[in-house]
Amino acid sequence: MPQLSKRIRTLNTAGSDGWEVFYRARQMIAAGTPVLELTIGEHDIRTHPSILDHLHASAKGGHTGYASVPGVLALREAIAQRVTARTGVPTTPDNLVITAGGQAALLAAHIAVCQPGETALHIDPFYATYPGTIRSASAIPVTVPTRARDSFLPDPAQIDRIASETGARSLLINTPNNPTGTVYPRETLEAIADVCIRHDLWLISDEVYDTQVWEGQHLSPRQLPGMEERTLVIGSMSKSHAMTGSRVGWLLGPASAMPHLIDLSTNTNYGVPGYIQDAALFALQQGAPLEDEVAEPFRRRRALALSILAEQDTVTAIPSQGAMYVMLDIRATGLSGRDFAEGLLDAKHIAVMPGESFGTSAAGHIRVALTIEDSLLAQALRDLCSFAREITP
Ligand code: PMP
Repeated sequence: MPQLSKRIRTLNTAGSDGWEVFYRARQMIAAGTPVLELTIGEHDIRTHPSILDHLHASAKGGHTGYASVPGVLALREAIAQRVTARTGVPTTPDNLVITAGGQAALLAAHIAVCQPGETALHIDPFYATYPGTIRSASAIPVTVPTRARDSFLPDPAQIDRIASETGARSLLINTPNNPTGTVYPRETLEAIADVCIRHDLWLISDEVYDTQVWEGQHLSPRQLPGMEERTLVIGSMSKSHAMTGSRVGWLLGPASAMPHLIDLSTNTNYGVPGYIQDAALFALQQGAPLEDEVAEPFRRRRALALSILAEQDTVTAIPSQGAMYVMLDIRATGLSGRDFAEGLLDAKHIAVMPGESFGTSAAGHIRVALTIEDSLLAQALRDLCSFAREITP
């Protein structure tokens, strides 16, 4: 076989992609050993039946041909109205392109703003696909580390320094954050906006968890002064409406950038299926009640998790204010996140993600997804804490 491109051969350079515990848990399940999976960010409910009815009706009604490449106008209008209402930034369908989930929007954003070989910054710990997405765009991912004692909030002075050293073109942030659950406060976002303006950076703002905020408020940095023209927002129906498998999201930014993103879409996916877009429109038209219904189990389970963790002091929770995860500090056990997760899987048949799966800043931590039924989650957390106590020297 002729050689494959360096780009594709080096998408994942770490050697390990951090998913070993996840795959081993799946193998154990396949071999008949029950495992409680607290690994991936997937709801334990499925897409609401009313959305599926709509999807079916749209497909039966004939919306099965090539759909509008920028996205169905009515869907873009609904998203634009939602963004305008939530952020106060007047937004129209011309600011948007519909993508195959937030993931395709992340790739499109980096292709749109980075030249091959330019540096794209992102914050560590990070959602697992970020470095590979940036490399797919032929840019070079460089991380900005954070610290557990700062609740994994980035230090804008450090972003400033790394941006100077690398001549970066873009900065990717994610609030509410996966994996940490942190919601960036206004001061942090204002200081990040200053850095972006000073270094003429594009800000790529991953807001796919914007409906899952338990404390504080979600603020989109696009609404800060001077940021509308340099911010690309990643949106998705996956988390807000339990539509992960439908692959529908959007990229939002300056209207003058959108024709180029539409060109990219024409040359990649050629749009998103029309019946999926119709279903997404129907879902958005249900407004806050449906979004709250989807978010509610995570709100409840986060409170439950914090109350169980408060009963002991071996494992400490990073203050989580949003998203469907809690990040736990297990450094008191003396183990790495990876060794703890491996040991927990063997001893208690509970699968969690090692903090090391998300970069280097969350070493010595584990991420627990709040994606199983409350009483099972409570038992799993109690078992996790007793495992931690048993192995602590
Ligand atoms: N960003 C973050 C932070 C995520 O956690 C995810 C999914 N886990 C995505 C983007 C992509 O989601 P999707 O492509 O399903 O919209």
